[in-house]
Amino acid sequence: MNYRKMGKHGLKLSELSLGSWVTFGGQVGLDVATECMTAAYDAGINFFDGAEAYAHGEAEVVMGKVLEKEKWRREDLVLSTKIFWGGKGPNDTGLSHKHVIEGVHAALRRWQQDYVDLAFCHRPDPDTPIEETVRAFDTLVRQGKVFYWGTSEWSAAQIREAHTIAKQGGFTPPSMEQPQYSLLVRDRFENELAPVFSELGYGTTIWSPLASGVLTGKYSGGKTPKGSRLAMENNGWLKELVATPANLAAAERLEPLAKELGCSLAQLSLAWCLKKPHVSTVILGASKASQLKENLGAIDVAAKLDDAWVKRIEKTVAG
Ligand code: NDP
Repeated sequence: MNYRKMGKHGLKLSELSLGSWVTFGGQVGLDVATECMTAAYDAGINFFDGAEAYAHGEAEVVMGKVLEKEKWRREDLVLSTKIFWGGKGPNDTGLSHKHVIEGVHAALRRWQQDYVDLAFCHRPDPDTPIEETVRAFDTLVRQGKVFYWGTSEWSAAQIREAHTIAKQGGFTPPSMEQPQYSLLVRDRFENELAPVFSELGYGTTIWSPLASGVLTGKYSGGKTPKGSRLAMENNGWLKELVATPANLAAAERLEPLAKELGCSLAQLSLAWCLKKPHVSTVILGASKASQLKENLGAIDVAAKLDDAWVKRIEKTVAG
């Protein structure tokens, strides 16, 4: 495993990490989560990504149970939560001072931890002044309950505003963004956000690097394998979003390149992410430990990808 600095900050993240959206506490239970997290930890993955929204909090409960059982050294782990969708009440969502503080406290109880290393604003909140959110996260950092705070799917302007407010007010500024980024979703990351990442020394923890599995090739030819994410009844919206004819065709065009490299399409797609500037860690998702083990092979594939390969892959996706 290689470890990367989170932007300009001192924290080191394993370049591949493991998340829990859809999977832990929902699609799979404690046994499979234990297998996946153990395979990840054994390979040197140190960052495990949670959110109050994932399986209504159950994902963090499951990951907390695995940590309790495995007794890994806390210093070897980087744990996160994301705050925004905490429940049904009027103060259970968004980024108000009240919900940020209560949401992080609830996440700590689910994780069974005294602190999380990273806490993200899961989305921007149009109902709350950014200053209120900055103050709330600053309080948590000063109390030692959160070590670094950041944003997810914020615009460049919102990130800059949060940073300026923090600097002017003497508050802890945000340090990282969690954006979507993959061979199929590039525009915002590369064109809108990359300049801000450079300017502020931001780290990034990128999500859905396989576009929910489309970039494994498993949905190619219009197939929807039983038990897969896009076969799940409540994921019709996601299927519509990611399994578009254009995306499926791009995945099919990439298959011969993976063959030429002697790797799977998932490994090629993840290796491409590892080669791109500003990526601190690529968050993997897995519903089986075998997927995780396969995906770890992306590190060796990335070592083979020179600039010419990266360009060829991008040209192939563009069609
Ligand atoms: P991916 O795009 O990599 O999708 C992961 C899914 O693809 C797996 O659960 C599995 O689904 C399938 N898969 C993965 N590897 C393989 C393989 N080798 N062969 C076949 N199928 C495979 O990542 P996610 O969408 O899960 O995102 C990763 C993490 O990012 C999340 O867990 C979460 O922590 C974070 N995230 C953050 C968001 C945000 O708003 N900040 C939003 C979304 C995610 P299956 O087996 O069910 O088909």
